[in-house]
Amino acid sequence: MFYFDPLYLLFVMPAFLLGLWAQYRVKSNFNKYSKVRTTRNWTGAQVARAMLDAEGLYHVKVEQTQGFLSDHYDPATKPCALAPMVYNTPSVAAAGIAAHEMGHALQDAKSYTPLVVRSALVPATRFGSSLGTWMLFGGLILNSFTGSEIGFMVAVLGLGLFALTAVFALVTLPVEFDATKRAKQLLQSHGVLYADEMVGVNKVLDSAAWTYVAAAIQALMTVLYYAYILFGRRR
Ligand SMILES: [Zn+2]
Repeated sequence: MFYFDPLYLLFVMPAFLLGLWAQYRVKSNFNKYSKVRTTRNWTGAQVARAMLDAEGLYHVKVEQTQGFLSDHYDPATKPCALAPMVYNTPSVAAAGIAAHEMGHALQDAKSYTPLVVRSALVPATRFGSSLGTWMLFGGLILNSFTGSEIGFMVAVLGLGLFALTAVFALVTLPVEFDATKRAKQLLQSHGVLYADEMVGVNKVLDSAAWTYVAAAIQALMTVLYYAYILFGRRR
């Protein structure tokens, strides 16, 4: 337990590598399609505003945030936050990402079930990942030193709490896939992009989707690794 376990690599490494590959693809596609101007020549901010207004979401603000690929929509505070490269640039990549965040705003407006579940899971997941980790390792230590059943039970409860991180990462998948699906439909139905410009949007958004897939697999495999350690020791 208290030394580095090569088994951990076996569980987590494939998803970790998948994540690195996905992040590399997001960055390279984003850089490539940031240089491709759209026919309409709208910045990401203009795309988001036009589409929010067209969908009647006048109350959702479009704001500029700091960082690179830091774009997000927060259902709690409701600004559509776009990174400077998206907010200010009239590119295919910016239009795609702005439309994706706009997809989250629409999910929120329509109380899309996975988004509601995901938002509800945020506090429990934070609590579960910190307390769960302490209980898991505390319980294991107690169990290995004293052989106490209580230690084992605490560790099992801790693992249950920690497993919320994997549930959260899995619920994130339909939320992200659906936002991208909405983005692609909206960009075309509102005439923001032409069909040939959608190729770049597809590449940027589909590669971003893979980062969430990798994160979900990694979270799931981490829980399975701990479960293996916990229950494997019992045999
Ligand atoms: Zn998203």
